Amino acid sequence: MDQLEALISSNPIECGACQKCCQNNPGIQILPEFGDDPDLYAGNTEEIEGHLVLKRQSNGDCVYLDSATGCTNYENRPSICRSFDCRRGYMHWMGRSRKDRLAAKKAGQLNPRVQREGEKQLKQVLNAGQ
Ligand code: SF4
Ligand code: SF4
Repeated sequence: MDQLEALISSNPIECGACQKCCQNNPGIQILPEFGDDPDLYAGNTEEIEGHLVLKRQSNGDCVYLDSATGCTNYENRPSICRSFDCRRGYMHWMGRSRKDRLAAKKAGQLNPRVQREGEKQLKQVLNAGQ
């Protein structure tokens, strides 16, 4: 584990009121192999390219997102939501080529707003560690 990863691991992300990764995502996958119970999301999922994902609202927000109060299914949020950290997402994509990033952005896998948040959050933890 490199120093940056150690710093991230020892400083859990503080999302506060940020909802950027719940907005305009390509659909959060339900992963039984990581403990997700598909029955908990009955009626709120759809199958896309063989993957079971949460539906999205007409504006692209996750079906469970209430812009005023946040996740309306927080206790049962899927494993991806529990483990996602935009700082790691930022580092992941910055480690790839610009061409890869553009392709991922086009495919909806890279959300520029989430990337910017990841960069901001990473800088905060780096500054705090100085
Ligand atoms: S974008 Fe980052 S800070 Fe915002 S909700 Fe997602 S993980 Fe939390
Ligand atoms: S289930 Fe909740 S935490 Fe996960 S993307 Fe939807 S609103 Fe966000």
